[in-house]
Amino acid sequence: MGKDFENIARIGGGDADAVRGRVVWSPVRSLFLIAMYAGTVTGAVLYLRIDTVLLFVVKTVAVLLLGHSVGMHRRLIHKSFACPLWLERFLVYMGTLTGLGGPFAMIRTHDFRDWAQRQPLCHDYFAHRRPPLVDAAWQMHCELRLARPPRLDIEPEVARDPFYRLIDRHWIAAHGPWVAVFFMIGGWAWVLWGVCAQIAVTVTGHWLIGHLAHSDRARDWQVRGAGVQGRNVDFAGLITMGESWHNNHHAFPGSARIGLYQGQSDPGYWFVRRLEALGLAWDVCLPQDLPHRPNLYWVGGKAPPLRPARRF
Ligand SMILES: [Zn+2]
Ligand SMILES: [Zn+2]
Repeated sequence: MGKDFENIARIGGGDADAVRGRVVWSPVRSLFLIAMYAGTVTGAVLYLRIDTVLLFVVKTVAVLLLGHSVGMHRRLIHKSFACPLWLERFLVYMGTLTGLGGPFAMIRTHDFRDWAQRQPLCHDYFAHRRPPLVDAAWQMHCELRLARPPRLDIEPEVARDPFYRLIDRHWIAAHGPWVAVFFMIGGWAWVLWGVCAQIAVTVTGHWLIGHLAHSDRARDWQVRGAGVQGRNVDFAGLITMGESWHNNHHAFPGSARIGLYQGQSDPGYWFVRRLEALGLAWDVCLPQDLPHRPNLYWVGGKAPPLRPARRF
């Protein structure tokens, strides 16, 4: 799947429609997030200390880097590198700790959006086209019910994996071990900062970058025929673990490297390279390993960039 430029091999259903649909409140996600905000405010008022802030930073970086960027996005969704199953499961579990949902929910959200953004027209929900407050309410508290959704066929080795089934069904309970350990070490202070604040900031940051990273017009690479283009969010390369180079990602979705050019920090790719050096990752896919994509154009203004090098 990683070698497929369109990278939506899981999506089927010829008469699917990306435009017509209803945005409806998603009570479990919404109430869970509100509870996390309440915990964050309580923690900030009662327990603002060096140890709690450090715990928050370390846990958030671990979840964003190992879980969201490398485990869920680059490995499970795009198969942009290969690794042992035990490692994939660990990284995907870390990705479930974002608070965005379990592995099947993440695949579904990602692939539906990917598919919709490649259509000439799609619903405003998929395009992040509404003003920030409306988009925030939609993305973090609601879901889109399409009148004619596409079919999603998750590959059997993932769909039938008992561990993935467990953490997808119990994506909230998946935080339990951390709640227990943090409570034993640091009481409620550590739970509020190491779990609630981490989730609240991760989910909110995920929405904000997604909101900023889409537009109708591309600035660097343009995917002709796609109604929504990716945009690089320059200030956020490091804090998103490289995910914010989203124009590059729309251009080369199957690449394990997302920050492709000078000055584009990509900690997620650095981590994959460390795994590769340790023999824990292989078949690391880069833009030049992907097949030619006839509808991809450089529209950056200056001369087109050199082909990204094989190794940096
Ligand atoms: Zn996108
Ligand atoms: Zn992606």
